[in-house]
Amino acid sequence: MEALSQLLSSARNGGFIYGFKVGEREREGPIVSHLLFADNTLVFCDADAKQLQYLSWTFMWFETILGLKVNLSKTEAIPVGEGILMKTLASVLGCKIRSLRTSYLGLPLGAPYKSTRVWDVVEERFRKRLSIWKRQYLSKGGRLILLKSILSSLLTYFLSLFVIPKRVCARVEKIQRDFLWGGGALENKPHLVSWKVICATKKDGGLGIRSLAIFNKAPLGKWLWRFANENESLWKQIISREYDLQEGGWCSKGKDLWCENQSLEEAFPYLFNLSVNKKGWVAEAWEEDGVGGSWGLRFNRHLNDWEVGEVESLLSKLHPLTIRIGVDDLLRWKENKNGTFSVKSFYSSLSRGIRPPFPARTIWTPWVPIRASFFGWEAAWSRLLTTNRLKRFGWSIPNMCFLCKNEEETTYHFLLFCEKARLLWLLIFSLFGVQWGMHSSVKRNLLGWHGSFVGKKREKAWRAALLCLMWTIWKERNRRTFNDVERND
Ligand SMILES: [Zn+2]
Repeated sequence: MEALSQLLSSARNGGFIYGFKVGEREREGPIVSHLLFADNTLVFCDADAKQLQYLSWTFMWFETILGLKVNLSKTEAIPVGEGILMKTLASVLGCKIRSLRTSYLGLPLGAPYKSTRVWDVVEERFRKRLSIWKRQYLSKGGRLILLKSILSSLLTYFLSLFVIPKRVCARVEKIQRDFLWGGGALENKPHLVSWKVICATKKDGGLGIRSLAIFNKAPLGKWLWRFANENESLWKQIISREYDLQEGGWCSKGKDLWCENQSLEEAFPYLFNLSVNKKGWVAEAWEEDGVGGSWGLRFNRHLNDWEVGEVESLLSKLHPLTIRIGVDDLLRWKENKNGTFSVKSFYSSLSRGIRPPFPARTIWTPWVPIRASFFGWEAAWSRLLTTNRLKRFGWSIPNMCFLCKNEEETTYHFLLFCEKARLLWLLIFSLFGVQWGMHSSVKRNLLGWHGSFVGKKREKAWRAALLCLMWTIWKERNRRTFNDVERND
């Protein structure tokens, strides 16, 4: 492809094909004659038979020199603008004609970037992929894994190019929610835990599904980072021209974060007020002399004795820093130790919140089946559909524990304190030789359930025991509720 690119560039430089100029006509701007992506080539030229003739000769030379063939049956001409005699023009090349309302690399061409049309394709594909799985019986744990993998494979490309419109975001999130709680069927299954909690990381008590709105910002942020760091790339030149980037757009000023974690304006507001050049570049405060340089601070009046102390502390902050004249400023990404941007770190900084501790390590352990983990997660949030919660949803049913038929059914009763469950817990504790005082909250029990006191060998078993037993009790409870079958004590 490099050879073809060279040939096309020569044809452009020789004035045989024109391409298009970015920016206003009168001003200088980069000329784009062709773009290459993998084995795709886009060529831009005027709607002029002569130029197309030259183009077809360029292809011919390419074929002769490299012995490769340009596949004309896969070549398409797309007119941009009106009143173009496409048939005549396309016959010069011998290719097919397409209209601008087509898609290129999966993206619709010619659609305004805010249009929801861009997203229709994605939404449809997303729905289709999930609907294949609807018919299968999948546990919630299985659905969670599917949701994540389909989401990342389908959406990442689009989310790294476009801002997702709020409407589309809400629609896609609804598909996700329905799939997670109801297996994607249209049945009205209750959504037990709020979507906001679900989108938190597992460590913070969520399921680690990415919130679309936030996840959208992270890969888009990558473009900002690249804009600041890629000086030669064509896309940057085009955007700079289109939006009229000023000289020194990314150099540091006194208000910027360039020295430790605070801007100088914030750290020394009093002195900043007195400074002569508040909007100046940092580099302007540096004075070169024969042996190196030093910081030359200029204030709009003579300083008083009591102000000298502050100047001293400013200078002691600046003293270790030197400016190298002629070297461009570089951005540093503080979220990563090596100073370079990553989408992952940006996402986690965007979604970071202060949340109470959550027993994620006990729940999402590889020693238990994922459906048991999912169950443990629901239980930790006290979101199991127990009778007392069903009543809250408006069901009028007598509330009686299905296991002991004695007391009211609540999460902590039937899982931890019911006499039937209690027997099983005592059995586990005696097997491990542990004295354990049950806490009345499932979450607190999970938080305290680390296996350091049972010995290394039995730690895995101990850690798995809590979730597995709770899950077994839940299944038994459901068997009694729905199938009216009781197992022996
Ligand atoms: Zn009971």
